[in-house]
Amino acid sequence: MEKKEQLYEGKAKKVFATDDPELLIVDYKDDATAFNGLKKGTIVGKGVINNQMSNRLMAKLERCGIPTHFVKELSPRETLVKKVSIVPLEVIIRNISAGSFSKRYGVEEGIVFDQPTIEFSYKNDALGDPLLNTRHALALKLATPEEINTIEKYSFRINEILKDFWKTCGVTLVDFKLEFGRLSDGTIVLADEISPDTCRLWDAKTGEKLDKDRFRRDLGGVEEAYAEIMGRLEAHL
Ligand code: ADP
Ligand code: UDP
Repeated sequence: MEKKEQLYEGKAKKVFATDDPELLIVDYKDDATAFNGLKKGTIVGKGVINNQMSNRLMAKLERCGIPTHFVKELSPRETLVKKVSIVPLEVIIRNISAGSFSKRYGVEEGIVFDQPTIEFSYKNDALGDPLLNTRHALALKLATPEEINTIEKYSFRINEILKDFWKTCGVTLVDFKLEFGRLSDGTIVLADEISPDTCRLWDAKTGEKLDKDRFRRDLGGVEEAYAEIMGRLEAHL
């Protein structure tokens, strides 16, 4: 499958057309951004790790019955995916308080919830991805009620699968962001990526952060953390 014209360059990935109108090639970069693009940097090796981690996890989810956009890894940074029309919602699932949840509600990080939470934000960089509820999403016609039901059901199931998997690696899945899209026939599938850029992953014993918070918060050891988490994943596949 050959790369044709570049359709889009985002903050972390480039997206290319292919000969097949239903397929795209995604090319992962080492560029890192945080705080809606305000903080910029490079994490050497991140593109390879995010590409490979996302593909391994999506393959696992497919085996558990969750439809995803993943088709085939083409190279260390490039993957063939099904083209979708992205539902402009970022779905965030949380098992433990951290980040914007702690800030918004004035609570410490690390509170383990009895039940996971779900929240949506409107995927719109110009507006800073504002938080919204299901009725707001319906009012804005971002998705249908059936699509929102499917997205919620898949998101909680994905949480159970990934939480169990990361536990076997000695890692606590704190929270993560998902994006879904529609195939040409309207089927909802998981799209975008699942990586240390989009998940909070803490060492289960020490609580050490093994994700993008090391970059966001200038904690140092960013490359080492990405390599460590990828090593744990590969050892437990
Ligand atoms: P951003 O747009 O936030 O800067 P990226 O650099 O990750 O993010 O760019 C990748 C873009 O491709 C995102 O906008 C994402 O929603 C979109 N995307 C991810 N998977 C697919 C897919 N299977 N089909 C179409 N678009 C996709
Ligand atoms: N997240 C993401 N992209 C975003 C916002 C959040 O991948 O645009 C992920 C983030 O890595 C974390 C989870 O979603 O794993 C929850 O993030 P939070 O709302 O706490 O926001 P943040 O602290 O990143 O501003």
